[in-house]
Amino acid sequence: MIVEAAKLIADPQIGNRGTIGGDIAHGDPGNDHPAVMLALGARFVIRGPQGERTIPANGFFLGTYMTGLEPDEIMVAVIVPSLTPGTGYGFNKLKRKTGDFATAGSTVVLGLRGEICDGIRIALTNVGPCAFRADEAESLLKGEVIDDALIEEAAQNVMETCEPAEDLRGDVTYKTHMAAEMTRRSIRDALSGARRSAE
Ligand SMILES: Cc1cc2nc3c(=O)[nH]c(=O)nc-3n(C[C@H](O)[C@H](O)[C@H](O)COP(=O)(O)OP(=O)(O)OC[C@H]3O[C@@H](n4cnc5c(N)ncnc54)[C@H](O)[C@@H]3O)c2cc1C
Repeated sequence: MIVEAAKLIADPQIGNRGTIGGDIAHGDPGNDHPAVMLALGARFVIRGPQGERTIPANGFFLGTYMTGLEPDEIMVAVIVPSLTPGTGYGFNKLKRKTGDFATAGSTVVLGLRGEICDGIRIALTNVGPCAFRADEAESLLKGEVIDDALIEEAAQNVMETCEPAEDLRGDVTYKTHMAAEMTRRSIRDALSGARRSAE
């Protein structure tokens, strides 16, 4: 998923120069790696004068350009757990053109036990002050057999959590609806991937 997401970031020039750590540390709500790392359950290794600490992605993003980094700290590593069999992912990003940030993006990682969803992380891009987990929508799906009705319920719930800023990419209503649509697509992709990976 990291590779697939990277292909949709900006343009080749920026992709060749930007770093994953910089994309995360910047705390820009439009950057894609924050949601990818939230969905993957990544942890960040931070180093500063007081030594080294490892913190989960979940809780690291505090607001627009605000993160859990102190001014004298740098991120030196990103730890991404391997996806276990029965796990699938979906990364969907609506962007107007090559080189643009997301109008809205949704990243999903989910695990299946049989047909039951036994774990799911849904993370959203550019529809709030920073990337965030849609934890209420996750709760609607966890422990359930995911069908179209549940996907729709989760998508509607995602819309309630979005607080996008209006800009040239769209107004609040449009971006909110696009976040829901990206989430529907990502859940479906993750579900198919999880079924394939369990075979
Ligand atoms: C036209 C354009 C389109 C773009 N589109 C997208 C997009 O679609 N998706 C996307 O995700 N990004 C996009 N970007 C953002 C781009 O990916 C970021 O500029 C880049 O990822 C930032 O990473 P960098 O390595 O260049 O960091 P820098 O620009 O060098 O740093 C960014 C900030 O983070 C700090 N920093 C950098 N590395 C670390 C570290 N290891 N530890 C602590 N602090 C650090 C710096 O001090 C600075 O404050 C776009 C940028 C442009 C200009």
